[in-house]
Amino acid sequence: MDSQKLHVAILASPGLGHLIPVLVLGNRLATHHAVKVTALVLTTSTSPAESQLLKPPAGPKVVDTINIPPVDISHLIDANTRVVTQLCIMVRESLPGVRSAIAGMKHRPNVLIADLFCTEAFPIATEFNIPKYLYIPSTAWFTALTSYCPVLHEQIDGQYVDQSEPLQIPGCKPVRPEDVVDPMLDRNDQQYREYLRQAMEFQLGDGILMNTWEEIEPVSLEALRRNESLRAVVKPPVYPIGPLTRPIELAGPKSEVIEWLDKQPHESVIFVSFGSGGTLSAQHITELAWGLELSQQRFIWVVRPPAENGADESFFTSGSASDGTPDYLPEGFLRRTKKTGWVVPLWAQQPEILNHPSVGGFLSHCGWNSALECIKSGVPMIAWPLYAEQRLNATMLTEELGIAVRPEILPAKKVVDREEIEKLVRTVMEYKEGKVMRDKVKKLKNSAENALNKGGSSYDTMCNLLRDVQMRLKF
Ligand code: UDP
Repeated sequence: MDSQKLHVAILASPGLGHLIPVLVLGNRLATHHAVKVTALVLTTSTSPAESQLLKPPAGPKVVDTINIPPVDISHLIDANTRVVTQLCIMVRESLPGVRSAIAGMKHRPNVLIADLFCTEAFPIATEFNIPKYLYIPSTAWFTALTSYCPVLHEQIDGQYVDQSEPLQIPGCKPVRPEDVVDPMLDRNDQQYREYLRQAMEFQLGDGILMNTWEEIEPVSLEALRRNESLRAVVKPPVYPIGPLTRPIELAGPKSEVIEWLDKQPHESVIFVSFGSGGTLSAQHITELAWGLELSQQRFIWVVRPPAENGADESFFTSGSASDGTPDYLPEGFLRRTKKTGWVVPLWAQQPEILNHPSVGGFLSHCGWNSALECIKSGVPMIAWPLYAEQRLNATMLTEELGIAVRPEILPAKKVVDREEIEKLVRTVMEYKEGKVMRDKVKKLKNSAENALNKGGSSYDTMCNLLRDVQMRLKF
């Protein structure tokens, strides 16, 4: 590779949901902007799905990857340590590995881009005298809420979820107390303190990249750029460079599920999946199975064993279990739905499935990667938020964008019963409301494509970002 090329190192925190957007960003920089990219990957136990993602694709290598060896944090956590705290500890313990990886590179990077859990790596960039940027693979609204949280911390007493009024974020749509991100649910937990620290460290970078685009979030982006109260806490410039999603893999032999889809009518199948680590309770799995069956719609469902400890239980181990027998489904379910349904244990080719012409709906946990893949496939959604910032995403998809419906009460608060699930599925797949949502999401799909095309807003923003990097390197 040309040694004169700009060389970007991108640091990904552990977990597939974090690795995927970083690799996607790396690919975009390398293929559309002629940048050399090295992804520094903090691995945990490498699951089959993770290995697959890190496997170099056929043809010329686009992004180099360096795996930072996993760290043992067992002595630093206990059974009550929440996911965000675990992530932050893993990153902290991995920093020496990150430093030596950069020091050991023959062609040193000129810039570091760290994902949102890796802000503690910024001082490493300073040591190597290179600019540093933050990558938030989520929305501008989430970026605003997180950045403003240290102010809310001073303004508000008691738990956020107990507030009777929505939380005011200057210039942005207010956030309903029940929609706050997971680390804000309990102000006494260590993950809230980690979250506050992160929010403050967001401001130490030379810029903030976000996986969003102008047309989908004009209000929050305007606020992040120009609202004085918000600018007081969001000092670096913001770069909406999305929607970046995994490419659809069309090469190679077709999987059984795609072959099955090939035989189904146009837009007749609803895809059900809860991201890389989402899990449901046993009761919810039963209701969902009955709801799908009662709806009499065709479906593909990625099923995982029920969760005992929380909806994000398999976050670090997605796709790693070997036993795919879904014995936790209602008796006879597979037999009764044999003609109309397809159950995939643990992990499926989500982008390929969503993009298939036979798919007409997506029941999703509203992880931002999934939401973007769905929008880019032009498919309406049932929003079933589980953890992280998914409640915020669900509200945006349903109330602001009008491309999703959701259960009346959050699934985390109350079991959604089979009749309600049946109605939601029929709404998306059969009713007029579903058709209206489908039209809207198709328009959004076009706007996403335009943003990424040469001359589009996100394409130009990426060019501006790279110009900013070059300027900083000159001085
Ligand atoms: N994914 C997949 N197959 C699955 C489940 C998830 O390919 O069976 C991919 C999905 O396409 C998306 C990512 O994993 O790119 C999940 O990211 P998201 O932000 O939606 O949710 P998270 O996993 O972070 O909760």
